Amino acid sequence: MKAHRFDKDRVSHGVVFSMTWENRWHPLLERWVTITGHRGSRPWQGGQVEAPLPAASFDPACYLCPGGQRISGQRNPEYDEIFVFDNDHPAFSVDAPPPEPAVGLFESQPADGICRVMCYSPNHGLRLSQLGNDQLLQVIEVWRDQTFELMTEQGFEQVFIFENNGEVVGVSNPHPHCQIFATSLQFSTLTQELQATERYRAKTEGDLFDAMIRSEREDGRRILCENSDWLGFVPYFAELPYEIMLLPKGRRRQLFQMPDQELESLSVALRQVLVMLDHLWSVPQSYILSIRQAPLGLPEAHDYRCYLKLQPLLRGPGLQKYLAGIETGAGHFLNDGVPEIKAEELRAAGQGR
Ligand SMILES: [Zn+2]
Repeated sequence: MKAHRFDKDRVSHGVVFSMTWENRWHPLLERWVTITGHRGSRPWQGGQVEAPLPAASFDPACYLCPGGQRISGQRNPEYDEIFVFDNDHPAFSVDAPPPEPAVGLFESQPADGICRVMCYSPNHGLRLSQLGNDQLLQVIEVWRDQTFELMTEQGFEQVFIFENNGEVVGVSNPHPHCQIFATSLQFSTLTQELQATERYRAKTEGDLFDAMIRSEREDGRRILCENSDWLGFVPYFAELPYEIMLLPKGRRRQLFQMPDQELESLSVALRQVLVMLDHLWSVPQSYILSIRQAPLGLPEAHDYRCYLKLQPLLRGPGLQKYLAGIETGAGHFLNDGVPEIKAEELRAAGQGR
């Protein structure tokens, strides 16, 4: 057995940085993640992310506010709840032109799909976490209805819903909104997760999602919230310091398979974890929220289920996690936040709120 040179937790500026330093297997992406807890306190001489100024409830220059003028010249209606419209600069469209013929090895297809923007509220200055109970539930119901329409009525194989939140994620407009992409193309993370779920079944005869829930509950240290239908936790194999998964306990493929009660309990769990992210520091976390759903036409026996993932991009107050050489170049994540400790911080941030 090799002697370990590092064997103690380290304290820097009053914060304990754990010596948890190991590779952990990510069962859904079938790759290793390196937890490097000892690097959390490394010196940083680069810039810090500024706290955003509180936004007014209405900004006349905002293209997402009620009555706002969009880049296409269209004006938004004076909406007073949720407003969904087709993106003026879509990445995928049913009007995308036919591709040029590809040469040799290369392959192409039309960039077919529909991209929509969904404003959660007419109030320019709110965050998703600040919506009232009914409003948050309404947002989830519109996610469900949009998925139903785009999959079952328009026949798109995949519906991917996501919110980019904060300037760190490249969003300069704070108006609370998300995007909905419906495509006939399957995105590669979904393909990977589908294959991993299938391979796990072939190897163990078990359901990978049930196994994740069982293992997280058995350990217990990373759980953030739990109700009758949902479990929220920082996964054992988190790739980012404050990463959060919300898994449904039932095998539901898409949001529209969930009874009202499960959508309601989703809104409770989602608020709990969003509030934790908001109150970690004086700067609210920036995050990517995504709703992962099974593709249309997945065989009945397949175990894949709909779930939510939050990928926060700050590793400390004002400190951005850069996806640099190892992450982007090698496709391997170094996480310098120890999931057990990050879950503790998140639970503390949410206490009494
Ligand atoms: Zn606005």
